[in-house]
Amino acid sequence: MMQSKWKETHMGIAMTMFILSLAISALGLAIFMSVRGLRGFLRARGKRLVTCPENHCVAAVELDAKGAGLKAFRGGDYLCLQDCSRWPEKQDCAQECLSQVETLGKGCLVRNVVAGWYKGKVCVYCHKPVDDVAEWAGHMPALLTPDSKTVSWADVPAEKLPEIFATHQPVCWSCHIAESFRREHPELVTDRPARW
Ligand SMILES: [Zn+2]
Repeated sequence: MMQSKWKETHMGIAMTMFILSLAISALGLAIFMSVRGLRGFLRARGKRLVTCPENHCVAAVELDAKGAGLKAFRGGDYLCLQDCSRWPEKQDCAQECLSQVETLGKGCLVRNVVAGWYKGKVCVYCHKPVDDVAEWAGHMPALLTPDSKTVSWADVPAEKLPEIFATHQPVCWSCHIAESFRREHPELVTDRPARW
């Protein structure tokens, strides 16, 4: 009698341990797949600059990040465009630029192209460095146009950035705000004469 009760308890513990280990394995697998999916999504996110194989001009493209995340969740790669600056006119293209996206990786992300241009540069007005990306949150550096207006690079169509970089100069966020205010409210700005 005692022996059968002990056997029953022993079997119960073994079963509980078995179910517990199954649950832990399932949870581990679910976490692994979720992390893999999230990484796939984050990797595919963001606007990129490529050279369109059809007209050999710069185009701004975006990958289907949601699709890439779902595919990565199940295990695998998914590379497909979700948007392009040449769409909708060229929406039926063969998406041959995807080979560039694969080769260039993070290097063609707009934010990295922009950061690369600002690297080592200083503001044309105050001469302070503008290349500290960590300080960009909410304080993006801007550009000085050839006709002396300041514009934020984020307000320029991404596919135009490479040609704009060739003719514009870097401006820090503070000087961009000051110059914009000066331009929009000239009546409120009085330049004090310099004291010698
Ligand atoms: Zn400045």
